[in-house]
Amino acid sequence: MNATPKIYELGDATITRIEELVLRDFHPGAIFPGWLDDLGAPAQSATGHADSLLAGRLLLSVHTWLVRDRNRVILVDTGVGNDKPRPFTPYFSGLRTPFLEQLAIQGIRPDQVDFVLMTHLHVDHVGWNTHLENGRWAPTFPNAQYIFSKTEYEYFTDPANNNERNKTSFIVQQDSVKPIVEAGQARMIEIDGSQVIDGFHFLPTPGHTIDHSSILFTRGTDTALFPGDVLHHPLQVRRPDLNSVFDAFEDRARQSRRRALEIAADRDALVFTTHFPPGSAGKVLRTDGQFEWRFC
Ligand SMILES: [Zn+2]
Repeated sequence: MNATPKIYELGDATITRIEELVLRDFHPGAIFPGWLDDLGAPAQSATGHADSLLAGRLLLSVHTWLVRDRNRVILVDTGVGNDKPRPFTPYFSGLRTPFLEQLAIQGIRPDQVDFVLMTHLHVDHVGWNTHLENGRWAPTFPNAQYIFSKTEYEYFTDPANNNERNKTSFIVQQDSVKPIVEAGQARMIEIDGSQVIDGFHFLPTPGHTIDHSSILFTRGTDTALFPGDVLHHPLQVRRPDLNSVFDAFEDRARQSRRRALEIAADRDALVFTTHFPPGSAGKVLRTDGQFEWRFC
């Protein structure tokens, strides 16, 4: 854990992984209901990455991507956060990780962050939006504009949707999103593919959540794709039909996964995933009508 992260270059921008957590205890069948025991071995060798399954357990990561270009500092998704009570997801509850120290190692103080971009508003993507300050949840990045889907926020704060599946998301909005809105630092957007800040487009990839978005970043002819939770594990690149238990709208999740993989392959994009094992970035290749994942 916490090995020196690789620095990727995209034109004049750099992209670096800021680690928060590595999870090693999930049985594949607990995450992927369509899992078959014989899926692991051939798919594992096909990904060229033997570490994505360890002793029959999935290796999953939670982290943030730090993008720096010109004078901007941008974070994509903000992990779980410290000190957050998460009664229904104990592995995310009351964490004390050195996330901000990891950011400091990259030379970034919280007050230097200009933009925080979110693919969706789940527990493991919005956590470091806020931190405890004198007993209350305050924005961790006091000078940042936080950009996310308006529809997603409305959905996870409408009591009509407070059900078994969404119960953690409802707690999360209170301590990790609402304080941002109240501080006047939120910019809630329509997810329609248009450019939101220079070089960054939010593409609609709904299904995992109601208004999940994949974030496309371009510099000249170079493309980076942050697919959020369209993908949880390299096995889904080869098997785009394989939904995770966290995908709320199953058909749309499969359609969005295929779409994101096509964009990644067609544009030869560097893909910065949220949950693939470290170092979590790679490319999607298309051979014989099948997608393949290569870490890079
Ligand atoms: Zn996630």
